Formats: sequence, C-alpha cells, structure tokens
Amino acid sequence: MRTENLSIAVEIQSTLGEGSIWDDQRKCLYWVDIYQGILHRLDSKNGKHDSIEVGGFLGSVVPSASEEVILLNNRSFVGLDWEKKSFHTLGEVEKDLEGNRFNDGKCDPAGRYWAGTMPQAEDGPFGGLYCLHPDLSIEKKLDNISISNGLVWTTDKKTMYYIDTPTKEVWAFDFDNSTGSITNKRVAVTISESEGFPDGMTIDNENKLWIAHWGGYQVARWDPETGEKLFSVKMPVSQVTSCAFGGEKLDQLYITCARKGLSNEALSKEPLAGSLFVYDTKGKYKGVPANRFKRVS
Ligand code: CA
Repeated sequence: MRTENLSIAVEIQSTLGEGSIWDDQRKCLYWVDIYQGILHRLDSKNGKHDSIEVGGFLGSVVPSASEEVILLNNRSFVGLDWEKKSFHTLGEVEKDLEGNRFNDGKCDPAGRYWAGTMPQAEDGPFGGLYCLHPDLSIEKKLDNISISNGLVWTTDKKTMYYIDTPTKEVWAFDFDNSTGSITNKRVAVTISESEGFPDGMTIDNENKLWIAHWGGYQVARWDPETGEKLFSVKMPVSQVTSCAFGGEKLDQLYITCARKGLSNEALSKEPLAGSLFVYDTKGKYKGVPANRFKRVS
C-alpha cells in the first residue's frame, strides 16, 4: 500500500465506483457503481457488505429522513426501501434528452436533493444542475453543464461548492438555505494540468474541501478560501471518483474509484481499481454528517 493508514474496505471490481456517502443514523456507507447499476452498502456495525442491482445508470444515493434512501437512476429521482426492495419514482428531468443521465448529487442543509446531469457521450455542455425540493417539485438551477459532479455546503450554510469536471475548477456560490437560491458564482479552486480532473467532493468540519482526482491518483484536501492544496492521500489507482467521511467519529475517509477508461495493460498495473478504500485519519481530520432528503409531501 502506498499511503500509510490507507486500506481496502471492500475489494470489488466496480466499473465506475462512485457516490460514497455515510449514513450517520444507520452507521453504514452507501456507494454506487454507475455503469453496473449497483447500489452498495457497507454496514459498520457488522462489517457486512451487501448490494442491490437496480439496473440502468445509477448516479448517486442519499439517505432520507424516512426509511428510504433516494437514488438517481437514469434521469429520475427514485425512492428505495432497502429491506422491502421496493422502488418508486419521485420525479424525472430531461425527458426529451435520452442521451443524458444523472451523475453525482447531494442534499443541502435544508434537505433538498441537488443532482446534475451529463451527456453519456461526454460530448459537450448539454447537462444541467437540478434541485428536488422537499415537496417533490423539481427546479433547474444551472444550464450548460458538461459532467456534473461534487457538491457540498459549508457548516454555516452560506456557501455551496460545485464541480463541473472538465472545467478543472471548483465553483463557489452564495447560498440561501431558506430558498435554495445560488448567486455570485466565482472560482474557488483550479486544479492544475498534472493533477487530473476534480470529480466527487466532501467537506470537513473546518470547511476544507476533499476532492477525488480522476486520473490523478489521489484525494486532496483543498482550501477554498485561498485555492491552495493542503494535503493529499496518494492512491494506488488512477481513476479516483469520490470520498466521504464515515465511522463513529467521522474520521475515516472512504474513497471510491473506477476501472472505466483503463486499458487491460493499465488494469494489470492497478489490480485494486474499482475497490472501496478507507483512509484512517487517526482523528486528525473529521467530516460532518451528510444531509438527508427531507420530504414533506
Ligand atoms: Ca463523479
């Protein structure tokens, strides 16, 4: 292993492992394989890994205030009762854009589910960023998005950070938690050419950003106030896709990665590509509880 305190949490060969998120009530980690359409769960209470084959493209997953988890499946928001294995659609976007699919998504502090789309062909800025409100109405927030990815909110609920991967930037917005409006877009972080592309993202209790670097062999901690890189977890895999703090003390950083885009030769050098990793920060860094979807209807 390249980095001290980095280990394998679950050894699997996900095509596009993504969307790691910790449920602090059920004490489990969820993540998805977007291409295989599989929802994964690692239960920290018993160490058990199980999964559900949902099918289609599975963009991300969030816990909710009820028993359900909410998924992004193709271009729909879908509720899932894991124990009953029952699904129901909550809403759909871009009905006329069959080449698009949902990619990453996350809930804001008020319990709205923000989720962005991308053209599956990755051929231009034909996606958007949407918000599923607690009353299940859907609002389009941004247009001209290429590959919608990481989303986080600061602990004071006043700033939202967002990644459209090909820009190699992290954008900051002023955020109004009472209405969900975003204004005053500016660039918080720019990723240099040699460090890969910004993909999934989480935030720690000091409001620093932890960004998965696709093609960059690392998860890095960035200061969005100064744009500086502060720390890096070097990975033995190139296509690093998402990260989430979990564990009883929220000091374990779970990291997903992918096999997508790698030749057989490259894969022979990255036999662990697709697995779920965990970096033990030894209490040095701590996350914040993930926001849950709060349906009101
Ligand atoms: Ca992603």
